[in-house]
Amino acid sequence: MSRDELFIAYMEAFEASTTHVGACTACQDDQPCRAGAPVHAEFIARQDAWNERVRTGRKRP
Ligand SMILES: [Zn+2]
Repeated sequence: MSRDELFIAYMEAFEASTTHVGACTACQDDQPCRAGAPVHAEFIARQDAWNERVRTGRKRP
């Protein structure tokens, strides 16, 4: 996956997660519902992948 694709996937996962939280009182209370849990897990996984790419990218500028 290219750096751009990784970032786009991260942003899409972020948007899906925040959109869900905006409409779900359970997730707003830090009690992820069945529908929200995988959405938030995907966002965290994408965020980790992106942060890892940024971190390793900085090693050799
Ligand atoms: Zn929810």
